[in-house]
Amino acid sequence: MVTETYIEKNRKYSLGTYASFPLVLESGKGCLVTDAEGKEYLDFVAGIAVNLLGHGHEKLTRAISEQAGQLMHCSNLYLNRVTIDYMEKLLEASGFDKAFFCNSGTESIEAALKLARRWAGERGKKGRDIIALTDSFHGRTFGALSATGQDKYQAPFRPLLPGIRFAEANNPESLESLVDDDCCAIILEPVQGEGGVRPLSADFIRKADELRKQHDILLIFDEVQCGFGRTGKLFTWEHFGVKPDILCMAKGIAGGFPMGGILVLERAAAFKAGDHAATFGGNPLACAAASVILSELMDNGLLENSAAAGRYLGEKLEELKKKHSSIIELRGMSLMRGIVLESGSAEIISSCMEHGLLLVRAGGEVVRMVPPLIVTGDEIDRAVSILDTVLDRKR
Ligand SMILES: *Cc1c(COP(=O)(O)O)cnc(C)c1O
Repeated sequence: MVTETYIEKNRKYSLGTYASFPLVLESGKGCLVTDAEGKEYLDFVAGIAVNLLGHGHEKLTRAISEQAGQLMHCSNLYLNRVTIDYMEKLLEASGFDKAFFCNSGTESIEAALKLARRWAGERGKKGRDIIALTDSFHGRTFGALSATGQDKYQAPFRPLLPGIRFAEANNPESLESLVDDDCCAIILEPVQGEGGVRPLSADFIRKADELRKQHDILLIFDEVQCGFGRTGKLFTWEHFGVKPDILCMAKGIAGGFPMGGILVLERAAAFKAGDHAATFGGNPLACAAASVILSELMDNGLLENSAAAGRYLGEKLEELKKKHSSIIELRGMSLMRGIVLESGSAEIISSCMEHGLLLVRAGGEVVRMVPPLIVTGDEIDRAVSILDTVLDRKR
């Protein structure tokens, strides 16, 4: 069997950093993917909240192949129209002033952390410390890892970047007690993803905003997972009415093409030429893909579909929770949902996979659903029904 052969080859050749599911995927269309044995799955993982248009989307694949033949990469030594046009559209849609592009989420965090310190220096502030939160996840490079408030990710790699302090998520007093003149920024995920799909409270975000004003520091929102329509608005800060100085993005930005970046308000735009760079950052191929995502979101109803599908998914999960006492809590927003189980989330996910539904864990016993934003009501019904069956069987 192809699957067994490739599981074995992967075991032999890869560095083994991923605990991958025993599944070899070959192709996809819409919200469905097909494995090497020809079995079909409903994809409620979407490459970890990445494939916003699902798989094999015609406009996206056409834009990528046409741009690949036109100009794939030229470095930032030169300008190109695709990148600049995309920047213009994204800034207009998001209400930010400046943009910088890179290739991943963790790189977007590095850019934000460096910018915060650069900004503090420019402003003549002595503070260089950055406040991050418990249960956060910001990525795997040293800077982002240093801001990730989870021991399991940090412990094997210490010592880490100095000058990062951790406030307790959703505890405004804890945040207030940590901010002082030695700080230059607060970084947070409006909805904590890997930490267990936990939305921050409006009170907590309001406190962060207050502290920014009181202490003249920057507010950085990591919207790598919750951005680009995932919570029914272009960015999640819009739900809270608190606009960050720096917004980090990646995952869904280009629908599966690797890309990341930051959006910045004028007051925080402290980088000078030569301060920061990425060779591939915002290359025309990535920006051609990202342009399709943005126009689908803003002009072709994807944002509306995401919001409507997200509400529907929420209702269906509420019904499911009433039926199953093994569901302790529902978390998240819109199309970013966490189902907190008493125990056995790994087995539940494996069983769902056998029944043709892909799901992924977040944090402890949290089953996460982050489907493509094109997901339909029928597909949501099917996914919830599979989960229902699997939970029934376990009881
Ligand atoms: C996935 C993720 C990152 C890291 O992104 P990579 O592209 O894997 O480097 C950072 N922040 C959040 C909130 C994420 O979900």
